[in-house]
Amino acid sequence: MSTMKAATVNNFGDALEIKEWDIPTPGPGEVLIKTIYSGVCHTDLHAADGDWPVKPTPPFIPGHEGAGEVVAVGEGVTSLKVGDWAGNAWLWSACGECEFCETGRETYCPNAQYGGYTKNGSFGQYMLCDAKFAPRIPKTVDLSAVAPILCAGVTVYKGLKETEVKPGEWVLISGVGGLGHLAVQYARAMGMRVVTVDVSDEKSELAKKHGAEAAVNALTEPDAAAKIKEITGGGVHGALVTAVNGKAFPAAVGSLRSGGTCSLVGLPPEAFPLDIFSTVLFGLTIRGSLVGTRKDMEECIDFFARGEVTPTYTVEPMDNINDIFARMKAGKIDGRIVMDMGTK
Ligand code: NAD
Ligand code: ZN
Ligand code: ZN
Repeated sequence: MSTMKAATVNNFGDALEIKEWDIPTPGPGEVLIKTIYSGVCHTDLHAADGDWPVKPTPPFIPGHEGAGEVVAVGEGVTSLKVGDWAGNAWLWSACGECEFCETGRETYCPNAQYGGYTKNGSFGQYMLCDAKFAPRIPKTVDLSAVAPILCAGVTVYKGLKETEVKPGEWVLISGVGGLGHLAVQYARAMGMRVVTVDVSDEKSELAKKHGAEAAVNALTEPDAAAKIKEITGGGVHGALVTAVNGKAFPAAVGSLRSGGTCSLVGLPPEAFPLDIFSTVLFGLTIRGSLVGTRKDMEECIDFFARGEVTPTYTVEPMDNINDIFARMKAGKIDGRIVMDMGTK
C-alpha cells in the first residue's frame, strides 16, 4: 500500500475532504507513524477556518493528538524503533539552539514546527514525526484514551503549573471542553481545589463528575465572577482559561484574589479589556501558555498512565470529521472526540 486517506483542508472554511495522499517516507531524524487514533482539538477547527494571523498553507492535514505505531524510521534515528508506540504533538520540532530552546522554553522557539499546522498531522492514516519530539506512549495504556492527553492534557498540565496555584488553593477552570475537563482532573491530581465556569448545565455536570467542588453556568448566573468569589471565600488563587469565547477572559481575571495569576490557553481570535486599576491594586498576573515541553509531555502522560486522569471521550470514524467540527462549534461535545483512523 502506497497511499493513505487523510481528512484534508483544501480551502479555509470549506468542509474537509477525505482525500488520498501518498504515504510519506521518513527523512533523516524522522519516523513514520501509522496513526491509529487521533483526537480532534479545537485548534484543528481554528486551523481549518484560518482563524489566526499566522496561517497554515492549504492543502494540509490537521491533527496533533495522533496515537499509533512506528512503522519506519529514517537515517540516524536511535530514540524510537519500528513497533514502538508514539504520537504527534503541536510542538512537532524545535531548533535546540535558540535562547528559548536553551533555557527550557522550547515551545517558544521561533524556528518550531507545529503538528497539523506547518507539518501534516494526525488526520492522516500515516504521519511523519521528528523522532526527538514525538511523544513516546507506554504500551500499558489504551491508545484511544491517550490521544487527548497529547495536546489537551499537556496544555492544561503546563497551563496549571503556570497559574502557580499551590496544593490546597483554589483554581478556576474556565471552559470545560476537551481541555477543560482534563484540567479539572490534573488540578485535582496536583492538589488544587477546583471551581469551573462554562455555559451549560451539561458542562457543569462533566466538571463535577471529574472532581470540581463547584461549577458555575455563566449563562444563568448573572455575575459569574462574583459567584466564584463567594464560593471561594474571596476569589481563586489562579485561573486557567480554556474557553473559546473572549467574554470568558475578563470574567476569569475578575475571579482572582489579590496576587492571583490567570493563565490563558484558549485562543479565540479576539481581544479583551484589562482593567488597569484592579490589575495594579490587586497585584494580578496575566500570562499566556502554549502547549508544553517534551518534559511536560512525559510528566502528563505519566499522570495518565498511573490512572490519575481519565479522559471522557467518544470514538468515531474519520469520515465524521465535518460533523464533529459542527458539534464542536456548537459546544455540543462531551469531553473529546477521538477518531478511529481505520488502520487497525
Ligand atoms: P472545546 O470546544 O472542546 O471546549 C471549549 C469550551 O469552551 C466548551 O466547553 C465551550 O462550551 C466553552 N465556552 C464557550 N464559551 C464560553 C464562555 N463564555 N465561558 C466559559 N466557557 C465557554 O475546545 P478545546 O479543544 O478544549 O480548546 C479550547 C481552546 O484552547 C481553543 O481555542 C484551542 O485552540 C485552544 N488551545 C490552546 C492550546 C495552547 O497551547 N494554548 C492548546 C490546545 C488548544
Ligand atoms: Zn529553538
Ligand atoms: Zn490542540
